[in-house]
Amino acid sequence: MGTIVSLQLYVENPAAVTAVFNTIEALETRLTVNREHSEVMSINHAAGKHPVTVSKLVFDLIQQAKAASLLPYSRFNLAIGPIVKLWKIGFNGHSIPPADEITHRLSLTSPHLIELDQTNHSVYLAKAGMEIDLGAIAKGYIADITKLVLAQYNIHQAIINCGGNVLTIGSSPLTSSQEWHIGLKRPFAAANSLLGILHVQNKSVVTSGIYERYFIFNKQLYHHIIDPFTGYPLDNELQSVTIISDSSLTGDIYSTILFGFGVRHGLNELEKHKNMGAIFVTKDQKIFIKSNQHFQFELLADDYELCQSLIPA
Ligand code: FAD
Ligand code: MG
Repeated sequence: MGTIVSLQLYVENPAAVTAVFNTIEALETRLTVNREHSEVMSINHAAGKHPVTVSKLVFDLIQQAKAASLLPYSRFNLAIGPIVKLWKIGFNGHSIPPADEITHRLSLTSPHLIELDQTNHSVYLAKAGMEIDLGAIAKGYIADITKLVLAQYNIHQAIINCGGNVLTIGSSPLTSSQEWHIGLKRPFAAANSLLGILHVQNKSVVTSGIYERYFIFNKQLYHHIIDPFTGYPLDNELQSVTIISDSSLTGDIYSTILFGFGVRHGLNELEKHKNMGAIFVTKDQKIFIKSNQHFQFELLADDYELCQSLIPA
């Protein structure tokens, strides 16, 4: 998945480790859009031609991704593929595309043009050139499934880090409080440089930010979260949003949605989702927290200001 996946167990169980990594590889093979063949690519190749029947697992994920794309004001869009492939941000050959090409490709990104047939699990992209991209949420989905795999081996204490999507399982054997300590990375700094530490138990911690995959041209930063309304990188006051939730898929979906909302709308939205907490980090070095009692945050960086549950002016 173009990233590092790490798994920590606190019992000796090589069979469980093998099962987890085999599962991750099998899921990547089904969901990737970075190879010529996968279940998702078979849908994309058939765009404008015919529906494609996929496995229940892939169908379910696409169905959830479509629902998230149709939520009011959502800038999460599973049909963003043609624009992602155009910019190539985070891949070799990234560049600023011609404006008319962006406009043309935007016409291929309506989630309404993704037709789902529940009875035979088929997916049809109604226009040639359309492409589904599950890059924003597949790691969360995969992390949730690894938890199920570990449960089959009777393992209920573990931590899995799928390229920044951290899923803590159960309580921590490492701290007296039995809470896991998860570092929140300082944007644009070395991986071991932290803004702070989250204290959680049995939660997923997922971040969407502008500092992992980007390029700079003429002093302007272009990052990989695209605004589906403009076709350009989503530009607001935020550097990152971290979601703390039970399901890593939910966290992955909402880290993108709330990133798109910005701080004020994002904090308001969390009033409706008491099952989630969030940390918003802004470009002017403020940290807005809505814990909803799912985590505690310990600030380490004294050049950032902590604004507990405050709505910015
Ligand atoms: P998030 O913030 O969660 O999501 C950003 C990603 O979502 C973007 O990279 C783009 O793919 C997509 N996206 C952008 N805008 C939107 C939007 N508005 N709505 C919805 N989605 C959007 N990377 C490689 O370098 N090489 C690989 O071979 C490779 N293979 C992968 C295979 C799989 C199965 C997955 C899940 C990822 C793979 N990746 C690979 C990484 C992938 O390209 C993304 O960079 C990564 O998934 C982004 O995750 P994130 O959590 O950092 O970002
Ligand atoms: Mg994500």
